Amino acid sequence: MFDLASIYEAKSVSAAIRALEDDPSAVVIAGGTDVLIKVREGRLAGRRLISIHGLAELEGIALTPAGDVEIGPLATFRQVAESPVIEKTVPVLGEAVDQAGGPQLRAQGTIGGNVCNGITSADSASTLLALDARLRVRGPRGEREIPMAEWYRGAGKVNLAPYELLVKIVIPRENYEGYFGHYIKYAARNAMDIATLGVSCMVKLSGDRTAVEDVSLAFGVAGPVPLRVYGAEAAVRGLPVAEAADQIGPAALEEVSPRTSWRATKEFRIQLVRELSGRALREAARKGGAVL
Ligand SMILES: Cc1cc2nc3c(=O)[nH]c(=O)nc-3n(C[C@H](O)[C@H](O)[C@H](O)COP(=O)(O)OP(=O)(O)OC[C@H]3O[C@@H](n4cnc5c(N)ncnc54)[C@H](O)[C@@H]3O)c2cc1C
Repeated sequence: MFDLASIYEAKSVSAAIRALEDDPSAVVIAGGTDVLIKVREGRLAGRRLISIHGLAELEGIALTPAGDVEIGPLATFRQVAESPVIEKTVPVLGEAVDQAGGPQLRAQGTIGGNVCNGITSADSASTLLALDARLRVRGPRGEREIPMAEWYRGAGKVNLAPYELLVKIVIPRENYEGYFGHYIKYAARNAMDIATLGVSCMVKLSGDRTAVEDVSLAFGVAGPVPLRVYGAEAAVRGLPVAEAADQIGPAALEEVSPRTSWRATKEFRIQLVRELSGRALREAARKGGAVL
């Protein structure tokens, strides 16, 4: 049994926003794979839920005429993983979310819920951060777009103002075109496990495919929120691929702050950052046909 005050099934985004204004303590529910756990554990017990499940305006994955990728927040992990648009433009995102939970979880959990929960281990987060995705949110005063880099405000806290909903995840064309990406989820098990560390790397190669023209590197669980290591990226830009792969991990250590949890010690996570950064870069470059 779930201890709920009530559940309201919104028929539109505006109706959901109005319902939030009417009851500021109400909680938005999409797939419910986080929310219902918290209700059951008592952390959200007795609350009113506002369901956005099934709202067509929040579904779908499409390519705009300008070539930007637009992902509705209600797209499930499975829909993202199987989307031909994602496969063609940012396959690394499909690969990342395909590593979340198990098949049932991937059929129910949404990408919007994954970025709105503010959790550092979210499997979509480091890739969206490496891609510099933009999050379009809508509230009583209209819409605004927030770069992923400004989304996380602390563990479990995101840049959503009261009564705002995430309505679109946008990956601008210039952020993915010409780039190849690779995501590594390190976990104790291959399925149904949260990342001990996640790392996502996007690489653009030089014309002769020997050097790293541009790179972005982002982590989950290397700090309280998903984070980019801008200094390490700058340090390896322009280097031959093999050198960049050797140097990016040690450089990234300056910018991460993992902690010890029951899953792993801080020292083990530091070792993962050092090792997996270079592997992710190397593999992304290999996908781009790098001459190593
Ligand atoms: C068994 C199990 C295994 C899991 N394994 C993984 C894993 O391997 N990797 C991983 O990343 N996650 C994992 N999760 C966590 C969870 O499934 C994901 O975070 C999922 O993406 C949440 O999506 P949802 O639609 O179910 O979110 P919900 O539970 O509906 O919502 C999550 C949060 O986001 C808010 N929210 C949702 N949509 C919006 C919106 N459009 N606008 C504003 N706020 C919104 C809700 O209010 C809530 O705070 C697991 C969960 C379970 C139960």
